[in-house]
This record gives sequence, structure tokens and C-alpha cells, in this order.
Amino acid sequence: MFRKVFNIKTDKRIEIIDITQEIQLIVEQSHYNNGIVNIYSKHSTSGIVINENETGLIKDFKTALESLIPVEGNYNHNCINNNADSHIRSFFIGSSETVPLYKGKLDLGTWQSIFFVELDGPRNRKVTVTVMGHE
Ligand code: ZN
Repeated sequence: MFRKVFNIKTDKRIEIIDITQEIQLIVEQSHYNNGIVNIYSKHSTSGIVINENETGLIKDFKTALESLIPVEGNYNHNCINNNADSHIRSFFIGSSETVPLYKGKLDLGTWQSIFFVELDGPRNRKVTVTVMGHE
């Protein structure tokens, strides 16, 4: 098993950041060729997703999050701290993805990238990458 935690400093409240290259570099440090890679965010107001890195689509994704789960709402959690929308968005997005590792590379589809999704930034975040495999 190979494990590495890396930091992401976000600048905006919602930010969709392509982390595919960082993950691939960590996978190379593991020296494993075949196995699986888990990418995990240990925060309740962020997410990890796999999708296409196309500028228009990234904007559409942000717009959809904002319209499906509005900032303002009759949220119970806002009595504790004012970020229920961030938690609920994270609830639907999820905190991890697992990708096959094949011949030393992340076995992603042609149009797939791995994204860290900030939902309550700006903050300092940590992403844990766990590689299970063999040479
Ligand atoms: Zn909260």
C-alpha cells in the first residue's frame, strides 16, 4: 500500500479544480503498475468527482449546483454555522473516487479528469491518495 496526502489551497467559495496530474505523479511515486487508486477528501464541505474538463461544462456544473441546492434556504444547520448548502452539495457529490491503475497509469477514459470540488472556500484542504497494487 502507498499513501500520500497533499494540500490544496482554494480561492473561491465554489471551485472545481482538476487534480489529475497530481494524482498521476503520486501513482508514479508508488512504483505500482496495476491495482486501484482511491482519491479521498476528508472534509464534509468538499467533494471528489470524475468528469470532463471543458471550461463551459465546468461553469454549467457550478450553475447546476447553485440552482439545485440554493445558498439561501430554510436549513436547520444554518443555526450552527451558515453553510448548509455546502454540506448538502457535498452529500450529493461524495467524498471519494476509485480509479483502476493499469500499466502505471490512471485508467481514465479519454474525456475523464479527476476534480477536487471546493464547496465552502476559500480554505486549506487535504486530499488523501491511497494506491493498492503491485509492480
Ligand atoms: Zn457546517
